[in-house]
Amino acid sequence: MIQINNIGKWYGNFQVLDGCTTRVRKGEVVVVCGPSGSGKSTLIKTVNALEPIQQGDIVIDGIAISDRKTRLPRLRAQVGMVFQHFELFPHLNVTENLTLAQVKVLGRDTGEARERGLRMLDRVGLLAHKDKFPGQLSGGQQQRVAIARALAMDPIVMLFDEPTSALDPEMVGEVLDVMVQLADEGMTMMCVTHEMGFAKRVSDRVIFMDQGKIVEDCPTTDFFGESEARSPRAKEFLSKIL
Ligand code: ATP
Ligand code: MG
Repeated sequence: MIQINNIGKWYGNFQVLDGCTTRVRKGEVVVVCGPSGSGKSTLIKTVNALEPIQQGDIVIDGIAISDRKTRLPRLRAQVGMVFQHFELFPHLNVTENLTLAQVKVLGRDTGEARERGLRMLDRVGLLAHKDKFPGQLSGGQQQRVAIARALAMDPIVMLFDEPTSALDPEMVGEVLDVMVQLADEGMTMMCVTHEMGFAKRVSDRVIFMDQGKIVEDCPTTDFFGESEARSPRAKEFLSKIL
């Protein structure tokens, strides 16, 4: 589904991604964790071709990002992305937020886009809020709208970058619940998160990054187990976070 092949990325002389290789299979949920500045957000953004890479390649459903024939806007539309900050359009109401990209990028007619958007809004439990503006919603609700908006594009994979870390603690659960539900429904997901409870319960694999490198890439049970295979850096990270 997603192949990340030996990718490297530099900001000037600073190497932010260093020979990262991994694979995410269809239906798999992969959690990416690691210390601040280790390159997690950058890795996730390269998968969506939001950040160019200078080495290696990423192949999504058989389509290489580097291939000049690849239409990036189209590819991006297939890769749903939810960030830490909700990034809804503040001047558009919820329904308009859900509809815009479907019309502009996928060329759906407005009625169809609206119907699809509202179906996804219902899925995240917020249909009653369809006419509100983002500013009238709580952070957790805004994040669920952002997830619904991504789902309305019929993504083949969903990328999350710390979707709960900007939320008040009492709202974290409602967003994680939506993510758990998505995982249960078989969505392919790559999630940067420090929610280790979510990682343990839901993910199939954990990737641990440090200084731009993928240091660990193993089944979740191994990552949280007593396995000797774990690197000292990963152990230290876990001891701080758990
Ligand atoms: P955090 O947990 O704090 O979100 P992260 O693992 O997501 O960290 P990244 O945001 O991917 O880390 O950043 C990795 C490194 O790249 C950091 O050292 C950061 O300072 C650097 N970096 C990120 N974006 C840029 C940029 N546009 N220009 C230069 N350096 C950058
Ligand atoms: Mg980050």
